[in-house]
Amino acid sequence: MSLREETAARRVLEARARYVARGVSTPRLVVARAEGAWVEDVDGRRFLDFAGGIACQNLGHGFPPVVAAIHEQVDRYLHQCFMVGTYEPYVEVCRRLAELSPCGGGEQRSLLVNSGAEAIENAVKIARAATGRPAVIVFDQAFHGRTLLTMAMTANVKYKHGFGPFAPEVYRGPAPYPYRGVSSDDAIAGLKRLFKSDVDPEGVACVVLEPVQGEGGFIPMEPDFPARLKDVCVEHGILYVDDEVQSGVGRTGPVWAIEHYGMEPDLLVSGKSLGGGLPLAAVTGRADVMDAPAAGGLGGTFGGNPVACAAACVVLDAVATPEFRVRAKQVGEALRDGLDRIAARVPAVGEHRGLGPMRALELVEQTPALAGAVVEAAFERDLLLLSCGTYGNVIRLLPPLSVTDEELQHGIELLEEAFVDASARAA
Ligand code: PLP
Repeated sequence: MSLREETAARRVLEARARYVARGVSTPRLVVARAEGAWVEDVDGRRFLDFAGGIACQNLGHGFPPVVAAIHEQVDRYLHQCFMVGTYEPYVEVCRRLAELSPCGGGEQRSLLVNSGAEAIENAVKIARAATGRPAVIVFDQAFHGRTLLTMAMTANVKYKHGFGPFAPEVYRGPAPYPYRGVSSDDAIAGLKRLFKSDVDPEGVACVVLEPVQGEGGFIPMEPDFPARLKDVCVEHGILYVDDEVQSGVGRTGPVWAIEHYGMEPDLLVSGKSLGGGLPLAAVTGRADVMDAPAAGGLGGTFGGNPVACAAACVVLDAVATPEFRVRAKQVGEALRDGLDRIAARVPAVGEHRGLGPMRALELVEQTPALAGAVVEAAFERDLLLLSCGTYGNVIRLLPPLSVTDEELQHGIELLEEAFVDASARAA
């Protein structure tokens, strides 16, 4: 531990080790404040943030219109519980989600909850109520959360150790992953095999798929796959649930990542950046599906908290502007060029990929060692990074899309240095 860490950060980390359950994995950063693309720690050390609280700060830390809306709402009222008193910010978020919804079929409705996992759980409840069927199809590399049902849906034992038995009626098919040899054809064939070997398609309520798999390795679906999967769904009366908790709310440029694919899911699940830093997630879809559960079947004490909703209205307005989209495209192109350069220079990098500004580098070796060393070397250079991937061998980039050109280039340079440094140390 360096000298400057033996200060306020160290004191807080020692208290954390003493009082916080170890199951919440332990970072070294101790935050004092954050603004735009920067996070400052309790000792005054400033980090360029390419982690964004795991995709929750697409507009940057402390986006002034979001902060203003939060202040205004805090002065008006805090918690009400939407099942006790209707309040307009909840309705306004749902109105915006309806207007922006990629789901086809007329009137759109939404349910607001507290977290991505809770939203996925509710999407499955809604799909089951709408179809009268029990089964759920998920995919390799999927991450859908840490609750009992979503843990069963997530494809990584790291999140499951010691937590079984898992929820039943969850079946897994292959997802396209060209770098590791899985094509769209393979994935569709795998699904059809699943329908023969494990689950009758007439008993399936929904498929759940991330358009860009997040925790599983920042793997964008192949251009044809969502539409082909939807065709299979239509053939068997299965609903298509689009999990955009990580890839949505402008992360890939358009408001929803599925817009890149030109197809209409039946349900959309959003979260993370939706609340602008406050906990909020949503399920959106056409009225006949969303209204399948009886009154009282959906909800929760805090779901759609008024302050989070006030923030979300501003977030949705901001990410829906043409300016946001243009800037996100520029950020994506600059990241792509920078990562191409790193991939060409560092032999350990196997692939650089992404969709718009949601980008990552996958290392050839399927072990977490080098990616961990890169994250560490970046931290030493005051750059916050996250790894991901089933094998922990992917470095993902989640800078705020409000980042300036200078900040972006600076971050890419630090990233390159971190890669070169970590690779040299590993050699
Ligand atoms: N779905 C996806 C695609 C996610 O990336 C995540 C979280 O990373 C979740 C669901 C779960 O969201 P939360 O952590 O808010 O429960």
